[in-house]
Amino acid sequence: MPVSGQPPYDPNNIFARILRGEIPCKRVHEDEHALAFHDIAPQAPVHVLVIPKGPWVSAADFHTTAPAEAVAGFWRAVSLVARDLGLEDAGYRILSNMGEDAGQEVGHFHVHIFGGRRLGRMIPQPPPRLSPIG
Ligand code: 5GP
Repeated sequence: MPVSGQPPYDPNNIFARILRGEIPCKRVHEDEHALAFHDIAPQAPVHVLVIPKGPWVSAADFHTTAPAEAVAGFWRAVSLVARDLGLEDAGYRILSNMGEDAGQEVGHFHVHIFGGRRLGRMIPQPPPRLSPIG
């Protein structure tokens, strides 16, 4: 079922296949609500993905189809994973891309956890406009 302009959930997306064990992952946590594993192309010394176990495309499903228990269980797992990765002292960033403007690549809701270094500005700024010559 499409939610907020997103395509419907594709049960063969890469994270669904990881959940079913069809594709390997470097797992760091699993419970009844969530699976966490290292990103295949890390953008920080620590870059872990946390995915819910239900068939949800993006955060938009969390105010529509996902039951409250699954939403709570997922977010609890996100913060437990960050703690277990040892990130609570120095800090970390959690990020989730939703839809085209955010550049979401995989149509299974996921949260990135970044840490292990200073993470800089929250969102890269566009280059300044060049003023016309003359
Ligand atoms: P998005 O842009 O959708 O927020 O992020 C998708 C993330 O999934 C990217 O950071 C990408 O590196 C990661 N990714 C894509 N395919 C795989 C895979 O097969 N295994 C793992 N561990 N990560 C993946």
